[in-house]
Amino acid sequence: MLKVEGVNKWLGENHVLRGVDLAIRKGEIVCVLGPSGSGKSTLLRCINHLDPVDGGVIEVAGERIGYELRGDVLYEQDERTIAKARQHIGMVFQHFNLFGNMTALGNIIYGPVKILKHPRKESVDKARNLLALVGMSDRADAFPSQLSGGQQQRVAIARALAMEPRLMMFDEPTSALDPELVGEVLTTMRKVAEEGMTMLVVTHEIGFAREVADRVVFMDQGRVLEDGPARDVLDNPKHERTAAFLRRVH
Ligand code: ADP
Ligand code: MG
Repeated sequence: MLKVEGVNKWLGENHVLRGVDLAIRKGEIVCVLGPSGSGKSTLLRCINHLDPVDGGVIEVAGERIGYELRGDVLYEQDERTIAKARQHIGMVFQHFNLFGNMTALGNIIYGPVKILKHPRKESVDKARNLLALVGMSDRADAFPSQLSGGQQQRVAIARALAMEPRLMMFDEPTSALDPELVGEVLTTMRKVAEEGMTMLVVTHEIGFAREVADRVVFMDQGRVLEDGPARDVLDNPKHERTAAFLRRVH
C-alpha cells in the first residue's frame, strides 16, 4: 500500500530526511515514534506530497508520487499521478481544522459531494455510518465550536474516511487534546484499525502502539533507526537511542 525508498528531504540547511525506507502492506498498522525534530511530520508531508522530496521514491497504492534522481536529472511525477496518489490518502493532523461554518455532517459530506461528485443522498447515508463508527451519531448537527476537542478530532477522522482512502495517516492526533479526551480518540482509531484500514500513525502513545500496531518504526535525526514488530521494538530495542526515548516517554 505504501513504499518509501531512499527518500531525502532538505528544509533550508537542514537535511531532515536522510534516506528513509518504509513499506506498509495492506491492512497493516504502523506506528512511528521518535523525538521531536526527527522528521516524522516531514515524512508524512512528503508521502502526501504537501512537500516535494529531494530524491527517492514514494508509491501509494501503486501510484508513484516521489521525485527520482536518475544520473543528474530529477524526474518529477506529473500532477495527475500525484493527485491520484493523494486521493488514496486520508490525513488527520494534531489540529483538526474542521470547517467552522458547517455541521459535523456537513464537514463529512463536503469532500464526497464537492470533490468526488457523489450524490448527496448517498453521501449523507455514508456519513451517518461514519458518525456511528466514530461514536458521534447524536452530534451530526453540531457545529465544531459546540464540540469538545476529542469530538472534533473524531469528526475529522470520519471526514477523512469519507473520501474512501486506501491509507490513513495520523500525525500526533491526540497531542493537542486535554488528557481526559485522549482515550476516546484512541478508541476511535482502534475501531478504524479493526475495519481493516491501512494506517500510518505518528504518536507518543506507547500503549496504543503496543496494543494496536503491527509494527513500530523509530525515527531519529532523519533516519529510520528501528523497524520491527511492535513488541520487539518497544520491549527489546536494538539501539540505545530508542531505549532512551522509550524511558523518557513512559
Ligand atoms: P517531528 O515531526 O519529528 O517533530 P519535523 O518533521 O517537524 O519533526 O521536523 C524535522 C526537522 O526539520 C526539525 O529539525 C525541524 O526543525 C526542521 N524543520 C521543520 N520545518 C522547517 C522549515 N520550514 N525550515 C527549516 N527547517 C525545518
Ligand atoms: Mg511532528
